[in-house]
Amino acid sequence: MIRRDFDLEEMKYFLHLVGQSTDDYLYILDLTNDKAVYSKSITNVFALDSEEFSNATQELVKVVHPDDIDMLMNDIEDGMNGRKSSHNLEYRWKTVDGEYVAINCRGQYIISHGAIYLIGRISEIGKQSRFDNNTGLYREIVLENVYNEYAKTRNASGFIMLVGVDNFKEINEKYGAKTGDEVLNILTDSIKKYIDTPLRIFRMPGDECAIFMPYSMENDIGQAKILYKRIRNRIDRTIEKRKYDIFFTISAGVAEFDTEKDSFNELLKNAKFALHAAKLNGKNRCEIFAETEYTEYIEKLSVQDELRRCISEGFEGFELYFQPIYNTDNDSLSGAEALIRWNSKKYGFTGPNTFIPLLEDSALIIPLGRWIINTAAKACNRWITSIPDFVMHINLSFVQIVKSNIVKDVLENIERYSAANNHYVFEITETIEMDQIPAVQNVFKEFVKNDFRFAIDDFGTGYSNYGYMRDRTFDIVKVDRSFVTDIDKLKDNYLMVSFIIKMVHEMGLHVCIEGVETKEELSCVKKLGADYIQGYYYGKPICLQDFEEQHLKRFVLG
Ligand code: C2E
Ligand code: CA
Ligand code: CA
Repeated sequence: MIRRDFDLEEMKYFLHLVGQSTDDYLYILDLTNDKAVYSKSITNVFALDSEEFSNATQELVKVVHPDDIDMLMNDIEDGMNGRKSSHNLEYRWKTVDGEYVAINCRGQYIISHGAIYLIGRISEIGKQSRFDNNTGLYREIVLENVYNEYAKTRNASGFIMLVGVDNFKEINEKYGAKTGDEVLNILTDSIKKYIDTPLRIFRMPGDECAIFMPYSMENDIGQAKILYKRIRNRIDRTIEKRKYDIFFTISAGVAEFDTEKDSFNELLKNAKFALHAAKLNGKNRCEIFAETEYTEYIEKLSVQDELRRCISEGFEGFELYFQPIYNTDNDSLSGAEALIRWNSKKYGFTGPNTFIPLLEDSALIIPLGRWIINTAAKACNRWITSIPDFVMHINLSFVQIVKSNIVKDVLENIERYSAANNHYVFEITETIEMDQIPAVQNVFKEFVKNDFRFAIDDFGTGYSNYGYMRDRTFDIVKVDRSFVTDIDKLKDNYLMVSFIIKMVHEMGLHVCIEGVETKEELSCVKKLGADYIQGYYYGKPICLQDFEEQHLKRFVLG
């Protein structure tokens, strides 16, 4: 503690003088004799009768929020016992209107003439109306003030954790707003068990709370995940105690800050991004903000914008390519797979493996999918005049099946042309999500009823539900390219493909082998009994004119 003798009367004069030229309120507390002097303006704002008291503690108890008294007194006690040399607290004071306002109080403990003084200033950070009535927490605006206030100290760093309730909207819709409020209360109570300073926990818009954690010796980013786990365990215990009359999980996003570099808005944006990532990665988890992921995400958004623009500008830069599919029976062209290409002004040529997930994410695959079906149908209609049983394979994404009226879209686009429905095979890569949505089965049934056929795409790579084969929903199984590469040399690939072909045939379905590039691979899969073959050996995907030129020239086109 600092020892410095000063003249109290002179200090008082100084206080009033400086007090007039600052928004802060200055004070001297004589802790030994329980006296207090405040700068004059304090009585205009706070519920104090005078600016000088000889019963300082008693007056403080009147003005400080009851929940904050203990925290303040503990700090003062530490100062008096020499455990602390400075004072820096955020808590609430009552205003002349009877409302509570958040304040930041900073000062130094000083020994002078044998007495201990606390000398410093009080600054206002938030109004009580900035309180959330339900949880009793301060709102975002106060967090911003606290952050900016904290930024005034040198080398100020720490982290902010945004905690959100998973599926809060559904909880509210299913069980009502009262249950929603209760969930938020359980969440805030669980956080308060670990953080007992009021100006460290905040109610954010929606179902989120923010925890503000300045760094100290024992507190760094490593503490964030531990804190998250503690809160989560505490919530689980509460739910258990309540015998599961309520159930929810939480996700959290953490962003580190250095007040010299990061503005409050920047920090909040980062924490929001991390929380968003936690929810995307399956919820019930905590993610820490990473700059590279954020840059990738921004890049992804801008590619998505360009995709959106191209689609709205009449599918600018999109072109449908066609890759031949051969029939092994008579070594003749059986049909083609329609494969989308995109060449944009901004990004040039981009592969479908890159842009299709972006289209799926944004549901843009739905309007583009309609265009693909229409364009493929138009080509098919043209080609059946030369090859009467030509079959067009069209890829469908699960987003189209789950999120749009795909049966209507397909029928509308295909019925414009005269080729019958059995000229189309829809290729689908199975996903677990798709299997879990009952409506998908109905979509399949509708397609089959309308004489369309299905192919299981990329068979063997990811998730394969053999039930579909048994139910005869699918007609064709397309074996992924990875099993075919060097099949003439690699025993494992040979055995695998041989097994798949046998199994599929036993179920009465057909096999198409993808990715056949060499003569050796071709003769091998032919020997194994494949029904259809697709691959660079017969031809790469090419544009409509080239396809006609290379694969249909032998036939007279109508
Ligand atoms: P996919 O449906 O498995 O299409 C076959 C992919 O294998 C195509 O890649 C094709 O160019 C490639 N391929 C075919 N034969 C060979 C070969 O012998 N060697 C090699 N190395 N590759 C071969 P592409 O066109 O890049 O398409 C990639 C994926 O993008 C497609 O895989 C499909 O999942 C998706 N896709 C493409 N067009 C569409 C579309 O119109 N709609 C939807 N939903 N997805 C599409
Ligand atoms: Ca395909
Ligand atoms: Ca495939």
